[in-house]
Amino acid sequence: MRFPIHIATDMVKWQAKNWLRGTDRYPYVLMLEPLHTCNLACIGCSPERYSGDLKDRMSVEQCLKAVDDCGAPVVSICGGEPTIYPELVELIDGIIARKRHIYLCTNGLLLDRFYRKGTPHKRLAINVHLDGMKKTHDFVTDRAGVFDKAIEMIREGKRLGYFVCTNTTVYRETSLEELEEMCAFLDGVGIDGMLLSPGYHYAKLDDEHFLVQQETHRKFERVIELAKKYRINSTPLFLEFAAGRRDYPCTPWGTPNYTPKGWKGPCYVIEEKYHDSWDAFMKGNDWAYWESRSDPRCRDCAMHSGFEPSVVRKMGGSLRDVWTMMRWQFAA
Ligand code: SF4
Repeated sequence: MRFPIHIATDMVKWQAKNWLRGTDRYPYVLMLEPLHTCNLACIGCSPERYSGDLKDRMSVEQCLKAVDDCGAPVVSICGGEPTIYPELVELIDGIIARKRHIYLCTNGLLLDRFYRKGTPHKRLAINVHLDGMKKTHDFVTDRAGVFDKAIEMIREGKRLGYFVCTNTTVYRETSLEELEEMCAFLDGVGIDGMLLSPGYHYAKLDDEHFLVQQETHRKFERVIELAKKYRINSTPLFLEFAAGRRDYPCTPWGTPNYTPKGWKGPCYVIEEKYHDSWDAFMKGNDWAYWESRSDPRCRDCAMHSGFEPSVVRKMGGSLRDVWTMMRWQFAA
């Protein structure tokens, strides 16, 4: 099974509830950034965004209010680096008490600190950022030793009984051979799942490192092959989209992003405006425009956060797609 059954059933219940209410647009995964402080300066991150002061972090109450207001069944705690957040255990406990599922997205450098205080729970998954094997990952994170520490923490997480997965951005520098080497290596470590997502080409970021559309398609054709051999958690329909075999509108409201500056609109990548409240975010963006991908900044985007929700949103329209997803979910 790709995703633990309790996550899959809660997601289906959430969709049924919204369908009965007649709600067209509703979130699937809240991307919660309790802080904008990080202990790395990776090449894929905007430097001004993640060099924030720890004192400017959000309170646990603010974070939990966002969880309540948004209602998404899954909360991805990112940042910044969430293991720096002093109240992390309290925040996780509060989210679990609300019966939500958590992906704790981390570079792994301070995970041992979290392991000493936290407790494994079926609603908590550790999601370690890993952008290739040692040479590439240390290059992308701009620091030697980050790969080794991440692997050490993955092994330790498994030993302690956590559900541990990885999150990989596929860059222009990522060789397809290396990607396969990484999948085989992580398989040997006993990883519970690997999420592979294209880097996005957006003028505000450094053009050199992100994939343009043709390259994305070529690389993800190969990822589709890898997914037949390894536990890749990106859905098969998303991989087909990333490989250019199918098309989707964007679903930016499916993975809203709450940060110390407020609710970021319209999406994780484009910072047009921060909204003070969930209602202001949902009402204050021209969703039809952003779904259409007609903005020039959307041209080369195949972001996981924009299009995995599109897979879920559009799946009901095709019995074949439903069957593909069911076979994938229940695969060993
Ligand atoms: S396609 Fe969607 S996720 Fe990508 S930049 Fe545009 S609005 Fe954002």
